[in-house]
Amino acid sequence: MRTILIGPPGAGKGTQAKFICQQYGIPQISTGDMLRAHKAQGTKLGLEAAKFMNAGALVPDEVVIGMVEDRLTQPDAAKGFLFDGFPRTVAQAESLDATLARLGLKLDGVVLIEVADDLLVRRVCGRRTDRRSGQIYHLEYNPPPPDADLVLRDDDREETVRARLKAYHDQTAPLIPYYEQRGLLRRVDGVGEMDEVTKRVLTALGAS
Ligand code: ADP
Ligand code: ADP
Repeated sequence: MRTILIGPPGAGKGTQAKFICQQYGIPQISTGDMLRAHKAQGTKLGLEAAKFMNAGALVPDEVVIGMVEDRLTQPDAAKGFLFDGFPRTVAQAESLDATLARLGLKLDGVVLIEVADDLLVRRVCGRRTDRRSGQIYHLEYNPPPPDADLVLRDDDREETVRARLKAYHDQTAPLIPYYEQRGLLRRVDGVGEMDEVTKRVLTALGAS
């Protein structure tokens, strides 16, 4: 299975990615997680990316594209992959198409998880992640256990979330017609219980 989850910040991409990857035994490739790891390690790439991430803006295409190309050559990606949060611009999608064509690979489908903006702000502002396990929680919708070591992402504050939503609508939403024209887009309603949304995503990908 070679697939992509697209959707606005807070749509549930990370949450669903974990279930889908488990189901298919494929790696989750989250450019957001990769960039945060660079930031935490203080690499040159991480320091450069942090300026954009903290402002709620997209990191420049060439930075992300280089990172993804390296990741795709790792052995675990040979059996398939799920991209979460990549591509986020038409330039990234075109570059991915070129890379896959070079490797002789094709995408099976692109799942768009749809959620209205006002709900997204509530989801993102209540998101907390366990530092040790990477598990994603929500203070209200998916409460963490009492012993969780919770972190609030630097960019999960209301002002930054608004900028990220704008970046999504301006720069990422053009991917919807891009993949629609290629017959790859599957739309999934992202509102509802998490396991219900998982079923919808699996159905969209052709699993029963
Ligand atoms: P994304 O990766 O698209 O930004 P996440 O998977 O991190 O989104 O989810 C954002 C927040 O919303 C998290 O706190 C998560 O627990 C919560 N969440 C995810 N799916 C649902 C859902 N179906 N209903 C309610 N809250 C959800
Ligand atoms: P979310 O899905 O909640 O928006 P991510 O973890 O996917 O969060 O992304 C967090 C931030 O990392 C983005 O706001 C952006 O600054 C940067 N980022 C992640 N993926 C990309 C990408 N493919 N292109 C450009 N910037 C990216």
